[in-house]
Formats: sequence, structure tokens, C-alpha cells
Amino acid sequence: MINIKPPYLGCAYYPEDWPVEEIEKDAAKMKAIGIQVARIAEFAWSRMENTEGVFTFDWLHHVVDTLAKYGIATVLGTPTATPPVWLSRKYPDVLMEQEHGRRTQHGGRRHCCSNNEHYREYSGRIVEKMAQEFANDENVIGWQIDNEIYSFGNGCMCTVCAEKFKQRLKAKYGTVDALNKAWNLTIFSQEYNFFDEIPTPRDAWVKCRRRSSRNT
Ligand SMILES: [Zn+2]
Repeated sequence: MINIKPPYLGCAYYPEDWPVEEIEKDAAKMKAIGIQVARIAEFAWSRMENTEGVFTFDWLHHVVDTLAKYGIATVLGTPTATPPVWLSRKYPDVLMEQEHGRRTQHGGRRHCCSNNEHYREYSGRIVEKMAQEFANDENVIGWQIDNEIYSFGNGCMCTVCAEKFKQRLKAKYGTVDALNKAWNLTIFSQEYNFFDEIPTPRDAWVKCRRRSSRNT
């Protein structure tokens, strides 16, 4: 077991991006500058499950073990910010719907809708597999359960998220009249009669609200 005490000096490390022979050199350099903990794996879903249902953790064990050899503990990040391409292709509705109604393109990170049932199902599975794999590894001293949990841009506006948005407004304001008053929606005849009429804050609506706030 690694003998370190908080507060820890740590770093983020992405060994999946480098040749395997570099890992030992990196660990030695980390040790030399006093690093005690490395946070890894948060964007490495495709290295753990490159093909649906086929899980590969040997490489990750090797990283954890190598770091430990140099006295460096590990915080494991679950990789739910970066689902692999097979998920986007199998279920295109996992991709976020942006404010203009276009789906995000695979190729960045945080590209999936957090409320999508398929995204949640497969995220749950990879997290469970990781937990089973590393539950008894004493060199893993902590877990990061997601990364940058809010999506880029204005968030997802798919039908699932739109419905949850309305439910959230209903829970917060209780009545449509209370919402109209709180948001000052008599301006430009924006007031609503039913929660179901309220759109997600897409482009025209956002601009309109921004303009009105600048003028008042
Ligand atoms: Zn969504």
C-alpha cells in the first residue's frame, strides 16, 4: 500500500495517449518532482471498450501498477464524458441536440445527452465494469465519477431534455402565471398559458431575452 498523507500533490495523466513504454518514464519523472497522486482514465472509454461489450483493462492495471511502483496512488475517472464512436453510430439519439436542432458530431467530448436512456445504460455498464475490476486495488484511493458534467454550449435540447426542462419549471414556479411574472414575459407577448408551450432556450428566444435585458 502506498504510504502518503493528505494534502496530496497530484496531476491529471492521460497514459492512453502515449506509447506504453513511456509510462514508466513518466512515473519516474512524476516521482522526481514530488507527485503523490495521478488522476487517470477519465477520457479512455474507447481503450476500455473499443468494441461493444468487449472490455479491456489490462493496460489500465499496468498503468496503476507502474504508478504504484513509484509510490504514486491513483484516482480513477469514469470515462462517461467520452463515449466511443460505436455508441453514437448504434444510437444516434445519444448525441446532444444543439439549439439550432442539429445533433452534435462525434469527435469531441461531452457530446452525449446526459438524459438519454442509451447513454445512461451504457455509462452504467462501463462504470460497473471498472468498479468490479478495481474495487480491491489498494493503489486506487479515489474515484472521479464524471468530468465537466455540464455540456458545452447551451446544453442539450432534445425531446427528452425539453420535457425535463418543462417539469423543472413546473416544480420551480408551480403555476404558469408565476413563471410569466418572474420572467417578465408580457414583453414581446412572450407569456405562456401552459407549461407545455414553453420551448427550450433556443437561439431566437435567447437573443430576444438578452436584448430585452440590455434595454431594461
Ligand atoms: Zn437531451
